Amino acid sequence: MVIPLGRQNNRFQWKRHRHRMSHLRQDPLTGRWVIMAAGRRGRPNEYPLRREKGGDPADCPFCLGQEARTTREILAVGRQKNSSPNTAGWRLRVFPNLYPALTPEGSGPSLHDPDEEVPSSELFVQEPGVGAHEIIAYSPDHNAGLGTLSLEDLTELLQVLQERFATLAKDPKHRCILQFVNHGAEAGATLSHPHLQILAMPMVPLAVQEKLDRMEVYRRQEGRCLLCDLLAAERKKGIRIIDENENWTAFAPWASRFPWEMMLVPRRHQGSIMEATSMELHELARLLGKVLGRLDVLHGDPPLNLIIQGAPLENELPKAYFAEGTEAVDGFHWHVEVCPRLSRLAGFEAGSGFAINSVLPEEAAGRLREQEG
Ligand SMILES: [Zn+2]
Ligand SMILES: [Zn+2]
Repeated sequence: MVIPLGRQNNRFQWKRHRHRMSHLRQDPLTGRWVIMAAGRRGRPNEYPLRREKGGDPADCPFCLGQEARTTREILAVGRQKNSSPNTAGWRLRVFPNLYPALTPEGSGPSLHDPDEEVPSSELFVQEPGVGAHEIIAYSPDHNAGLGTLSLEDLTELLQVLQERFATLAKDPKHRCILQFVNHGAEAGATLSHPHLQILAMPMVPLAVQEKLDRMEVYRRQEGRCLLCDLLAAERKKGIRIIDENENWTAFAPWASRFPWEMMLVPRRHQGSIMEATSMELHELARLLGKVLGRLDVLHGDPPLNLIIQGAPLENELPKAYFAEGTEAVDGFHWHVEVCPRLSRLAGFEAGSGFAINSVLPEEAAGRLREQEG
């Protein structure tokens, strides 16, 4: 289903009202609305979710020497010649999740009683849980974080992400690959050891499909990529730009759902991390390290989700989503979202599907820009 892009009300002057009243903003990429409610700043306990430093390394299955407590590794980086797989002596290690949400062989639909058949019907649709769920322990240091990694290590991590994406993309059962970090229990992490997760799914999730649909509508209307145009508009305006380099721009999205949300976008149009050059990966590492470091300075290593969204896989999608030749001008435009989780989502968010944000993106970008140094 294709949803027409909403018209922006250009006459609304947010500046005049920002101290007195809330206003609504629509995310150009998803169509979702956010209530910008700067008036809610300074409520008691506004940021209840500071990250708790977590867990005893001796109990941690992702720490060095605990390799037998994880599934067998898919790959490891940084091993010395004489160290064997699934032992200590790695810098980065990839292995299947011990508690996978999806598995290669899939698990059939089941209720509590395994003997009970659960037939699908028009109303009650189901699919087997086929896919892949991998973990990347990206540092042997139990207390490391993405913002504290060296440029070299962060680049290496992105190279591994690219390699895993390309490998999982080859499986015709996979239609979308999401790579993400849950940093801190408040952001959904069950283990505090620094790690990243990869989920290869048998369908395109709604959050990606929404963007794909809007990009497709925009491309038909304007003949250009929605995110390329959005990026150009943000760079021209400048007030929400946090930082940028040769290949990447980081900005606070117009309709940020979370206080201090950031988005990193490659300036060259490309569908997924698979298409990035080694220079582009290196420059992403440089920018990501910088902006996460600044977030840490402002908010002391906050809980956050980092999400890498790439194009759904070509396998079963209409050709229209994919450009011919190498100079793609249509299709998805991949990007990285950083969502600090300093406040809780509550009933309103669950019931409406949109967020209330008490920090204007213009202010967040300004404060993050100032941290440069
Ligand atoms: Zn650990
Ligand atoms: Zn683009």
